[in-house]
Amino acid sequence: MAYIISEDAKELLKDAKEFCQNEIVEQAKQYDITGEWPREIYEKAIEMQLHMMDIPEEYGGLGLSHIDQAAIVEQIAWADAGVAVTLNGNGLALKPVLVAGNEEQKQKCCDIIANGGWGAFALTEPDAGCDAANGKTTAVREGDEYVLNGRKCFITNASVADFFVVTAMTNRTIGTHGMSAFLVYKGTPGLSVGRHENKMGVRCSTTSDLVLDNVRIPVENRLGEEGTGFATAMKTLDLARTWCAVIGVGLAQRCIDEAAAYSKQRVQFGKPICRHQSIEFKLADMEIRTEASRQLCAHAITLADMGMPFSKESAAAKCFSGDSVVQTALDAVQILGGYGYSREYPVEKLLRDAKIFQIFEGTNEIQRMVVGRAVIGKL
Ligand SMILES: Cc1cc2nc3c(=O)[nH]c(=O)nc-3n(C[C@H](O)[C@H](O)[C@H](O)COP(=O)(O)OP(=O)(O)OC[C@H]3O[C@@H](n4cnc5c(N)ncnc54)[C@H](O)[C@@H]3O)c2cc1C
Repeated sequence: MAYIISEDAKELLKDAKEFCQNEIVEQAKQYDITGEWPREIYEKAIEMQLHMMDIPEEYGGLGLSHIDQAAIVEQIAWADAGVAVTLNGNGLALKPVLVAGNEEQKQKCCDIIANGGWGAFALTEPDAGCDAANGKTTAVREGDEYVLNGRKCFITNASVADFFVVTAMTNRTIGTHGMSAFLVYKGTPGLSVGRHENKMGVRCSTTSDLVLDNVRIPVENRLGEEGTGFATAMKTLDLARTWCAVIGVGLAQRCIDEAAAYSKQRVQFGKPICRHQSIEFKLADMEIRTEASRQLCAHAITLADMGMPFSKESAAAKCFSGDSVVQTALDAVQILGGYGYSREYPVEKLLRDAKIFQIFEGTNEIQRMVVGRAVIGKL
């Protein structure tokens, strides 16, 4: 069962499926080996307007509902999770602007993406991962400017981005209320991309450090009021986590499809291995988990679309989908036996890609904290 989507989205989904089959599935294998950023894939994605999905209709976007978008994102993730992560990186950068920015900032960033540019969201620092409020990057106001200093790490799309949403402490003595968010554009003196991560998986996405060395930006580049940066980042992550969960579902679906196809043609003990009950049950569990993940995503997305609170639901979807996709990828490797462990077959890559879904956009330990606190709050 997939998401129930509009007629307009069905057309785009059909085109996206073709694009995925013809332009991503095979090509991504090679990029997975080289670790090169697959610019040609993204140029084609942009030609197909897939980069426009995150832009609201009033700023020139496609006007798809989040459920429509989920079906397309899942399809892209089915073909390659790293490609989905990259495209999603634009949405991640745009969300804080849409949450806290003024009209001018929103239109400018939407235009950058609409014109084929890229955005990056820079929250994580070497000493502030899960403990995101403990950032050391500072923004000191000097007249009509802020001066930013610090280092961000693990930033998706940093090496290709045209705009960055950077969190920095404007007052380190008042905890989370001392964090602010800023727009920093590529080419600003003092802004540079640091070392690139050589990652285990999602290798069609690029992840790098971002260095801020006396970066001067006008006060107009602040997103919202001073001190609202942490709240903006948390609202951003509420939305972003749901997309992370959706990408995990697409990847899990690919694991099921690869494992099921293999199990029908691999014969052992005189019959296809899918006729051995332990394999059939493994496939059943993979399907049950993935469909449950999809429905958790649909629920969180529906609440978001209705303007209702959805922090707990998006954390639950992200956590369940992340744990599920790792188990489902492990099961796929198991079903392929020794061939599953070989780079000749696709599932070892799927397993490497899957692991990140328990880590980024808030680790699954952090998601359990969000859900747990929501539950305890009800007592
Ligand atoms: C490929 C990739 C892309 C990324 N993209 C971005 C991006 O675009 N922008 C961005 O800002 N960041 C990004 N990140 C960073 C990512 O969000 C962080 O890696 C993540 O939040 C975890 O932080 P950490 O790696 O410092 O782990 P740590 O915070 O050091 O955590 C290490 C371990 O301790 C656990 N832990 C920590 N605190 C607690 C606690 N209180 N209770 C229980 N367990 C705890 C964690 O769950 C984890 O298992 C990316 C990371 C990767 C790998």
